[in-house]
Amino acid sequence: MRLGILTGAGLLAAAVVLTGCDSPPDTAKITDSKAEAAARLKQSKAAKIALARKVKANELGQIPVLMFHRIIKNPATTDDRTPQQFRSDLERLVKEDYVPISASEMVTGKINVPAGKHPVVLTFDDSSPSQLTLNEMGVPQPDTAVAILREVAAKHPGFRPAATFYVTRDMFGKTVREEQAQTLGWLKDNGFDIGNHTRDHVNLHGRSEKEVEDQIGGIAKQIDDLTKVKPNSIALPYGNQPRKKEWALHGKLYNHAGAFLAGYTPAPSPFSKAFDPGGIPRIRVMEKKGDCAQFCSAAWLDWLKNNPDMRYTSDGDVSTVAYPKFKNPYLRKSFTTWSLPY
Ligand SMILES: [Zn+2]
Repeated sequence: MRLGILTGAGLLAAAVVLTGCDSPPDTAKITDSKAEAAARLKQSKAAKIALARKVKANELGQIPVLMFHRIIKNPATTDDRTPQQFRSDLERLVKEDYVPISASEMVTGKINVPAGKHPVVLTFDDSSPSQLTLNEMGVPQPDTAVAILREVAAKHPGFRPAATFYVTRDMFGKTVREEQAQTLGWLKDNGFDIGNHTRDHVNLHGRSEKEVEDQIGGIAKQIDDLTKVKPNSIALPYGNQPRKKEWALHGKLYNHAGAFLAGYTPAPSPFSKAFDPGGIPRIRVMEKKGDCAQFCSAAWLDWLKNNPDMRYTSDGDVSTVAYPKFKNPYLRKSFTTWSLPY
């Protein structure tokens, strides 16, 4: 808006110079358009606030970041989900007004979901073939995570098929360089987010800085060589941070805006002071039983549903951070310009 006014005034000044000084510059007109622009701005801000209030927007609220591993018919560990379970996991998210965003979008604050909806981040660790295997025509095989996610999204317009795949040297079971390039290239071409999960899936806790750099930088370089993608987030194997958590964020061959853990709560909004880019919690996907009675997805989604004031709810405008004024002290300073308290 401000740019528009300057351009207009600049053009007017140029026109005066070109036509000589016979007619004085029309300052009244400039003042008018400035006042009009200010009025328009105020009006649009009032409309934005009214909408934010109507949908109870809370962009300082919490976001569930769900952690998946393999999607297989016969689960071997409690980390695995069957295709049928994964379908119903997604159907529940649809029903409860969640819209998937990628980890990359979350850590950079580009949360573009419609007014009144809630972002959810779907993450897949370990680059297993059960997440993505392509046939010879480049089509995902039925019952892989990607195929199921795309089916559910096609059935429910507005439910974006967005997800982040945390890759190790396992590379979706592909050992031939060309096949690795096909698989990663498919993810990139179809709008999926590729993240770093270290080269050899090592526990970074207790490793030297050089070893940490080598593990994270090694797979970063391989991903970049294969498909010209530089991941901007990492999922720490076993959820363990290195001795200095910054080592996971920045190295010679990588620059991450966020490092994700393996448990056990919803994550703070990236606009909130509670957000720590070096340790963003995730939630294991599991029914309410055993040690998942409280701290896995079924329990947390129940909790977020029953505590809507704690949950991130969008105002539908990616360029603002809308929230009830009461929460003002929790706004991260760097987002002040975009803040829309109501
Ligand atoms: Zn892992």
